[in-house]
Amino acid sequence: MSLNHVVLFSDAEVIFDKGDEGNCAYIIDRGRIEIFLVDGGTNTPVAILGPGEIFGEMAIVDGSPRSAGARAVGDCSLTVVSKDQLYERIESADPVVRLLVRMLIKRIRENNEKLISHKTPVAANDVNVTENPDEAVINKIRFEKELNEALKANEFVMHYQPIINLKSNEIAGFEALIRWDSPQHGLVRPDLFMGLAEETSLIVPISDWVFDESCKSLKLLSEKFPQENLFMSINISGKQFSDPDFFDKMLAVVKKHGVQPSQIKLEVTETLLVEGDFVKILIDKCRELGFNVSLDDFGTGYSSLSYLSDFSFDNLKIDKSFVKKMGADNKTAVIVQSIVSMSKGLEVPVIAEGIETLEDLTSLTSLGCEYGQGYYFSKPVAFSEAEEMLSNASTIVFKRVS
Ligand code: C2E
Ligand code: CA
Ligand code: CA
Repeated sequence: MSLNHVVLFSDAEVIFDKGDEGNCAYIIDRGRIEIFLVDGGTNTPVAILGPGEIFGEMAIVDGSPRSAGARAVGDCSLTVVSKDQLYERIESADPVVRLLVRMLIKRIRENNEKLISHKTPVAANDVNVTENPDEAVINKIRFEKELNEALKANEFVMHYQPIINLKSNEIAGFEALIRWDSPQHGLVRPDLFMGLAEETSLIVPISDWVFDESCKSLKLLSEKFPQENLFMSINISGKQFSDPDFFDKMLAVVKKHGVQPSQIKLEVTETLLVEGDFVKILIDKCRELGFNVSLDDFGTGYSSLSYLSDFSFDNLKIDKSFVKKMGADNKTAVIVQSIVSMSKGLEVPVIAEGIETLEDLTSLTSLGCEYGQGYYFSKPVAFSEAEEMLSNASTIVFKRVS
């Protein structure tokens, strides 16, 4: 069947019958269409549709035969919508939207069946739509609602993990890491909820809150410890880059808290860079405005090396998976060594994540890695502990490697 051709029907002509295979839908251009249910020998009209309305779409969405018939009321002209045109769109839609569409169609079909057998419409809650529920999608909707409420109830908190200058053993700055302090679930790690937030529009207000809160903490710490010249690393999600107000919002927040863009390192991951030129322009703009940009999780994505030549960064963060493996695996150690020496050539200082042991630290310092963070120094901590850590910095565990 060719795409979008027009078909004409004369009064009372049947367009399709109950039980027919559904291989297309129709848009009414002119005239009216009656949808009828077939009950034994009698036809019961259930709807009259007019120009601009679409019908015959249900069988395409769920692949079942037509559950009702359709016939012309007077002469009419219809545009045929092919199965592929609708099907591709539905299949590429968000899983939640797909589930909703399928559920609605199931509900209509069940209603139609009951209408014929009882001759009375059934209440929506009388219909069993949970016979085959997609648990994962339902849970996602619930969780999304909870996240939205968490944002409103101010249940998110920032923790701060110190980033150590490995030459001086001093705290150079902190990475701001979000947690959800849920009354129901306890302290929830970001990898359990930020992915879902990222799939929805929720990531933008959450990220706005993260930026504001982290700048507020940076201001308080810089005022209390001015000599430390501290920076704050803030993780940026892909959706923030698509927010047309991204730059205006960041500039307004730094102004509000009286911090300098140069005190902030925006952490972006390799996965964001696959978007290409558009992201390059945004990264360059961040840097033009005075923000530093760090390439996070380096080595875990694709084509890491080409990114280094195509994009400009102020720091490169070696992913913790490399640091974890380098002690036991010589190949990984060679890769880390290459990353550190390459970054020296590019004059992009390296921050190593996931330093957990003295051995990790010793290897990284001997390679000339400039900065490090990890449980060996400290886990991410609440603001008050970060403050305390700076107060005690001279006596704290940041052991000089002998
Ligand atoms: P990331 O940006 O790679 O952050 C580093 C993660 O490594 C943090 O996990 C940190 O707690 C953990 N880590 C630090 N040192 C060690 C160590 O020595 N050993 C081990 N095993 N892990 C260590 P966390 O806080 O659970 O965050 C996970 C991810 O969630 C982050 O990975 C980041 O991608 C995302 N995330 C966290 N906060 C935010 C945020 O505010 N905004 C956005 N967009 N993403 C965030
Ligand atoms: Ca990060
Ligand atoms: Ca990372």
